Amino acid sequence: MEGPMKRKISNEVLDRIRDALGPLGVADDAAALAPHLSEWRNRWRGSTPLLVKPATTEEVSRVLLICSETSTPIVPQGGNTGLVGGQIPTQGELLLSLERMDDIRSVSASDNTMTVDAGAVLGKVQLAAEKAGRLFPLSLAAEGSCTIGGNLSTNAGGINVLRYGMSRDLVLGLEVVLADGRILDMMRGLRKDNTGYDLKQLFIGAEGTLGIITGATLKLFPSVSNYSTVFASLSNIDAAIQLLNKLQSSTGNLITAFELIPRRGLELVLKHIPQTSDPLPASHEWSVLIEVSNPEAFDVTKALEEGLAGAVDDELVVDAIFAKSERDRQALWRLRETISEARRLEGASIANDISVQPSKIPLLIANSNAAIEKVFPGAIPIAFGHVGDGNIHYAVCAAKGRDEELLSLRDAIENAVFAEVERLGGSISAEHGLGLAKNDAITRYKSAAEIEVMKTLKAALDPKNILNPGKVLPTS
Ligand SMILES: Cc1cc2nc3c(=O)[nH]c(=O)nc-3n(C[C@H](O)[C@H](O)[C@H](O)COP(=O)(O)OP(=O)(O)OC[C@H]3O[C@@H](n4cnc5c(N)ncnc54)[C@H](O)[C@@H]3O)c2cc1C
Repeated sequence: MEGPMKRKISNEVLDRIRDALGPLGVADDAAALAPHLSEWRNRWRGSTPLLVKPATTEEVSRVLLICSETSTPIVPQGGNTGLVGGQIPTQGELLLSLERMDDIRSVSASDNTMTVDAGAVLGKVQLAAEKAGRLFPLSLAAEGSCTIGGNLSTNAGGINVLRYGMSRDLVLGLEVVLADGRILDMMRGLRKDNTGYDLKQLFIGAEGTLGIITGATLKLFPSVSNYSTVFASLSNIDAAIQLLNKLQSSTGNLITAFELIPRRGLELVLKHIPQTSDPLPASHEWSVLIEVSNPEAFDVTKALEEGLAGAVDDELVVDAIFAKSERDRQALWRLRETISEARRLEGASIANDISVQPSKIPLLIANSNAAIEKVFPGAIPIAFGHVGDGNIHYAVCAAKGRDEELLSLRDAIENAVFAEVERLGGSISAEHGLGLAKNDAITRYKSAAEIEVMKTLKAALDPKNILNPGKVLPTS
């Protein structure tokens, strides 16, 4: 397979695309391109001769046909909130944005499905479901900008995975344009369909390397009116998973979110994020933000209170505070959702999105802390996030004035953390993907046979390597 193409894209190709899409379908002025060429963490920068903005699936197909005929590389981009660089055209490729394809095509409350364009922003999709009296449960801090196409291409997780699953679990149908321009219409929306390979799953989590997702049929759930949200401080980190299991039993599996919040992360939020306050009088090293929700008139608060009372008796929980209003609930969630932003405002960090089986999380944190201390003495680890799914965002930060030293040790720090993840049978990318950040590292953690099958699929679906070249698959 050919490697990433660094050659200049000819004016002839650019003119063919301009002619195919008309003036609204392309942009090449610096102001229009700028927001698409850097990303949230400022780690990767790109360049492109043309931003391509098709308005329909047929137009996407026309663009890919031209790309295929001329072996022109193209990078799809949704809301540009990805954290591993997959959406950035680092080799001067064409940049494909589905921002003009953002319609909610249909909502069926009776079938509990909705069909949307891939360029629709997640927040808009959630709102459309809500208007129909239903819930689309995918939820993450970037939901005001990220798109369904990006969410599915990264198989995004977020805060409700415990109850509703990853993006992959929320899809009933997919529309995909292949590298040669063929349209795969897999939008049947069936809950049961065992007619051979489940092709749609191939494109979910493929980060735009196997096809362009242009539409999706999504699963809807009963809307939720009844929330109970509690911030609970733990006696120690081991208590987290015991508490989760206890509360799953007492609430009948109604927990939607169970998020670990370390004291260090909370302190950064209190320091950098306006209108935040410490929820409890005393400070404890580890806390969890727990949310239970239910569509019906079942008293979720009572079930959670009873479960927590038992956890206090068992010395798992030392103190807890319930949200008494929607405003309280939002304030508690702000403490969790702004940890990444507060950390960024504080200075540099090396972020790792890792997972193990939930019961192994305390060991993973302890072992990783010890390992990075050897590589970078004085390192400040901040482990937070979706502990209920076994997924920890493990950020390594530095004391004031040591940012450059920290960043110069990125490879050594990542390798130390990944080695601990591997020792415990975990994953080095739980929900953010591989992109440019981990595509080479993955060869050390997947078997040669797995990598070979990935390469075989890529070669079969994109033989000219024009779709997001250099991403996901190892470069050598
Ligand atoms: C503050 C913040 C919080 C976050 N929290 C979470 C979290 O809790 N859980 C989580 O999983 N992620 C999280 N993320 C990461 C990010 O939001 C998700 O990866 C999101 O799904 C990316 O969507 P996007 O539309 O921005 O895609 P982009 O960033 O634009 O693209 C992501 C990848 O998908 C490909 N792609 C985009 N659209 C298409 C398409 N239509 N067809 C084919 N390929 C396509 C791109 O080429 C790229 O490889 C967070 C990010 C931020 C900034």
